[in-house]
Amino acid sequence: MFPDLSEQLRQREQQGLLRQRKILESPQSTHVTMDGRDYLAFCSNDYLGLANHLDLIESASKGARRYGVGASASHLINGHSSAHHVLEEALAEFTGFPRALLFSTGYMANIGVVTALVGREDAIFADKLNHASLNDAALLSRAEFIRYPHDDLARLEQQLSSSNARRKLVISDAVFSMEGDIAPISELLAVCEKHQAMLLLDDAHGFGVLGRQGRGSLFLPDCTPIHSPNIIYMATLGKAAGVFGAFVAAQAEVIETLIQSARSYIYTTATPPLLAQALITSLKLIQQDEWRRDALTQNIVRLREALQSLPWKLLPSSTPIQPLLIGESAVAVCISQRLRERGILVPAIRPPTVPPNTARLRISLSAAHQPHDVLCLAEALQEIALQA
Ligand SMILES: *Cc1c(COP(=O)(O)O)cnc(C)c1O
Repeated sequence: MFPDLSEQLRQREQQGLLRQRKILESPQSTHVTMDGRDYLAFCSNDYLGLANHLDLIESASKGARRYGVGASASHLINGHSSAHHVLEEALAEFTGFPRALLFSTGYMANIGVVTALVGREDAIFADKLNHASLNDAALLSRAEFIRYPHDDLARLEQQLSSSNARRKLVISDAVFSMEGDIAPISELLAVCEKHQAMLLLDDAHGFGVLGRQGRGSLFLPDCTPIHSPNIIYMATLGKAAGVFGAFVAAQAEVIETLIQSARSYIYTTATPPLLAQALITSLKLIQQDEWRRDALTQNIVRLREALQSLPWKLLPSSTPIQPLLIGESAVAVCISQRLRERGILVPAIRPPTVPPNTARLRISLSAAHQPHDVLCLAEALQEIALQA
């Protein structure tokens, strides 16, 4: 029926690029059952170990009993429940912005924000290593799309000063998802303020993990958090928060603009209120349980120490994303496969997701990993390195 599709798939397979899903048969955790076998896993974004927490499960069940299972309407028709509303207010308060707005996913939040705020007469300036959803959003917006080399603020500054676009929007991951490094947020903001540009920060991997009480990357400085009316803050709720969804926090007029014109907000069913109910509980645990962030930090330190003598090097990262740089795709895939044979899951990330010749193992740590789990991974890598 579609011979060109079959041909394309066959080529993918020949190049070793055919991606296959594995079937997870247990809750998401540091130990999972997949395709009938138990594994120690370093793949999930459940950084605080909340995805399977009993209090969240209980809140979700309560939410289901109160609101049912489906929202059955969009937010602007009659799907905006009191649980959604309470959660939005709590998120605004927690992140220190006047207002916050829930989206169904981070992907949809990025699409919604960018397309609602900029169009044909405007320009977007984006870090080259940004998440795919931000790039897709930029293309969909029809604004001029200009990219700068990773963290190259001098280049960004040149690009901003030579642009005469009506609105200028700078976009950056706050924590880069394949590198684990943190963007120079204060400096980025200073450049944006100087050139009257808005700054969209995607804190998918920082929210819950970084800053005082897990309030995110803007709260990283010890003294005062970074705040400015120029910032539009986006974070996801399916990673450290352990549930699902995303939110945008910003000035009131930005949020009101999104409600009026973000198409991925308007033309979609509201997420089940039971998820918002679970997230209200998650937010409390994020705030209270400092020990989770402490355990995570200890795991990061432990891993970096334990991997020091390997022939491969960890990228400089202080976040739960710890990429081990391998280089060649085939080698990265082979190491990932050897680990899997030993019952350990670590994904190999290859181009085009990362730049050419920088294939890597992306190790994701969680507060729920035991010290023993981390050492077990380190030992397996040492053994594989000796055989290589
Ligand atoms: C995961 C992720 C997203 C998408 O969030 P979802 O809620 O999974 O759609 C957006 N940006 C970054 C940087 C991410 O890592």
